[in-house]
This record gives sequence, structure tokens and C-alpha cells, in this order.
Amino acid sequence: MARGLSPRLPAKSGRQDRVRGRGRAASASPKKDGLRLPGKGKAKPKAVKAVSAKPAKLKGYDPLAPERIKGILRRLDQLYPTATCALHHRTAWELLVATILSAQTTDANVNRVTPGLFEKYPRVEDFAALTPEQLEPDVRPTGFFRNKSKSVVGAAKKIVSDFGGQVPDDMDKILTLPGVARKTANVVLGTWFGKAEGVVVDTHVQRIARRWELTKNENPQKIEQDLMKIIPRERWILFSHQVIHHGRNLCVARKPRCVDCPIEPLCHAQDKTWTTVEVHKGAKG
Ligand code: SF4
Repeated sequence: MARGLSPRLPAKSGRQDRVRGRGRAASASPKKDGLRLPGKGKAKPKAVKAVSAKPAKLKGYDPLAPERIKGILRRLDQLYPTATCALHHRTAWELLVATILSAQTTDANVNRVTPGLFEKYPRVEDFAALTPEQLEPDVRPTGFFRNKSKSVVGAAKKIVSDFGGQVPDDMDKILTLPGVARKTANVVLGTWFGKAEGVVVDTHVQRIARRWELTKNENPQKIEQDLMKIIPRERWILFSHQVIHHGRNLCVARKPRCVDCPIEPLCHAQDKTWTTVEVHKGAKG
């Protein structure tokens, strides 16, 4: 296993105080729900002492126990209280287009492309009048531009012909649009219409749900079904945004920043980079 990827136990010496030169004992021994947010507050040297060198074994551990889920949600709320979609948009149509374009690229990249795109084609009817080939140069910087052009133009044509120019706010109907699967549908329904029809499962949610042992599945649709069973429905929209933020900020794919993560005491991921609890085989993204 590559250096830096294997979970590390806190040293008795407290040397991890100086992780990456930040000069603090990040999450060495977080009190129950007494969270310290990354980059905020000073660590107490005492906290390092409180951590044993050998993580305690958990008896009767249930990753889906309601108390554990509540603990994760509480920590997410403290970390990302106002998390929302990072794709810039002014209408449901703009959000739909931005979400289609966001596949396999960053939201920041999409946000660089969409202002010019919507200035050039302000209405859904303008997109519906195009051929995919005409749109390709405008969306090329987002990658996979041929498929994306086909999806955007196809969706525009169907919205104009079948839905009176309005993005449908219904799961079954929105799924009839070309290029729209459950992830895109959930983003638009949740973020724009405020309808909790499902949980957005993008690459971050997929990885983190597995690290947190909330699912054993790899298929996004099955992961969504698993999450819908254990996350309260009123939390579905916010939960997705929070986990996506967590995946960008701390729980990144390679070398997650576990030493800075307030969720660390509840996380048994095999691919943690630092730990105060035992890690579980198979709990990885
Ligand atoms: S893998 Fe690390 S960064 Fe991700 S949730 Fe677990 S402790 Fe936090």
C-alpha cells in the first residue's frame, strides 16, 4: 500500500500535532459532538494524551444504528450548515443544463462555461432550435461535448414539445428527458423545486457512503436506495449537498484529510489516512 494511504494511529508522543506543519492536534480526541471545525480554534495538548495507541474494538457495532446516523448528520450540519448546489443557475432549465454538463468535470469548470452559453442562448427554445453539432463548440470545454450537446439539445426539444417549455417537476416526467438519469433529476427536483424524491448519488456520495459503511453497493441506484432507507426524507436534499461538500473539502478520493475531519471518530474507512478508531475491511470508497 502506498505510503500515506494506510491508516495511522495517533502516536503517544503526539507528533501528529504537527501534521503538515499546521501546528495543531487536529481531531486527536474529539469529544462527543463537541466538534472542532477544520481550521478553527486551538487544539489542547491534553486531547492527544487522551487517545490510546490501540484503537478500541467495537462490540456489537452496527454501522446503520440510528444513533450513529444521527451523529453523522449532526456533524455534517455543523460543518456545512448551508450547503447547496455549487452550479450557478437562475432557472430550472439553467440548472438542468449545468447538471448535464457537470458529468466528468468540476462544477467550477461548468460555471466558467454557462454564463456565456446562456447569454448566447437565453431561452430553452433557443437550445431547441439548435442541432447538437451547433452546440458542441460552446460546451466543448466541459469534456464529452458530443454526448452532452446531444443531451442538452434533446432535452430542450422535448421540454418545448411535451412540457410547454417548462422543466417538469415530477420524477417520472423529468426522467423522460434525454440525458437525464436519477442523479440529474434529483439535483433539479431537490435544488430548484425543493422536492425530496431521492438522494443525489454522485462520485463523492458514492465514495463516502461506502467509507461510512452506509452501503456495500457500488451501483449508484442501489446506493441511493440504501441511503433513502436510513436517511430521514426531510434530510435527503441537504444530506446530498453536505456530503458532496465533504467529498470536495476533506473526504477526497485520494489521501482524505482524516486528521482534520470531525466525523473521524465515527468513520472506520479502510482507506483512512489517520485514525483513532479501528478500521473495517471493505469500508472504502
Ligand atoms: S475517510 Fe477520513 S476524511 Fe473521510 S469521513 Fe472518514 S475520517 Fe473523514
